[in-house]
Amino acid sequence: MPELPDLTVVAEALHAALAGRAVRSASAPGPLAVRGTPTELAALVGQRVESIRRRGKFLLIELERDGIACNPMLTGRFQLAAPGDKLPAKTAVVLGFGERSSGPTDAALWTAGAAWLPADEARPEVRYRDPTQMGKVYLRPADVDRPVPGLGEPEQGPDADDPALSLEMWRERIRRHPGELKNLLRNQSFVAGIGNAYSDEILHAAGLLPFRKRATLAPEEVGALYAATRQTLAHAIEVLRTRVPPTFEKQVRDFLAVHDKGGQPCPRCGTRITEVRAGGFVTSYCRGCQR
Ligand SMILES: [Zn+2]
Repeated sequence: MPELPDLTVVAEALHAALAGRAVRSASAPGPLAVRGTPTELAALVGQRVESIRRRGKFLLIELERDGIACNPMLTGRFQLAAPGDKLPAKTAVVLGFGERSSGPTDAALWTAGAAWLPADEARPEVRYRDPTQMGKVYLRPADVDRPVPGLGEPEQGPDADDPALSLEMWRERIRRHPGELKNLLRNQSFVAGIGNAYSDEILHAAGLLPFRKRATLAPEEVGALYAATRQTLAHAIEVLRTRVPPTFEKQVRDFLAVHDKGGQPCPRCGTRITEVRAGGFVTSYCRGCQR
């Protein structure tokens, strides 16, 4: 499932590749994924991309007039391609883009001069594909108030990596959530962007057990959880920037410390990593160094 680090890298790359280009074509080979009408989809053509960014686990495309919000859920992926490239199976939406005079001035620094960046005179495509068809692409015409479940307040708290989310705010927000730490981190109304994989990673980095109750934490443990959240996400983004391009549809998880590594030695203390499966999700942690 794409989480904050995965989608941050995709959003930064797509913004650098596409901002300033106008939509040339818009089609929905998998119309079930689309929330919006064929007329609204066709109306995207001709509008220039102003920005592509991430909010929580959503990818947001802002055009001159309209917008698109994409929630990839479990298996949705984005591909940056040339028009002639073979269309992957289960492609739900394809957007084609035109030339531009120059790239955006606010592109992420790591994208500068990247080999995968389409030339300004190229006509790139973005394909959104989703094998399980659980994700959704919401068209947001300027004159239609279409609700996007899970996007924005109060369903979304601040992004987990939001610079404005201070330790004081974190302490204040966490008081409302007395339950298990893994559920807390995955609760988008607490902080947005963390899912099953990175909640395991953050708890391992903080030295805290996933099923421990927040109400039992000492003040310094609440602080450790905050620090681990920031460090784990920032480190993952750094790794993914070097590992993911040019295959943006690829999910890279092999560098994680504990998630999905049941039975392997903990990189910190050597204890075998414990794996618990519940509700179709894997929780991985270390009994040796998490308390
Ligand atoms: Zn350990």
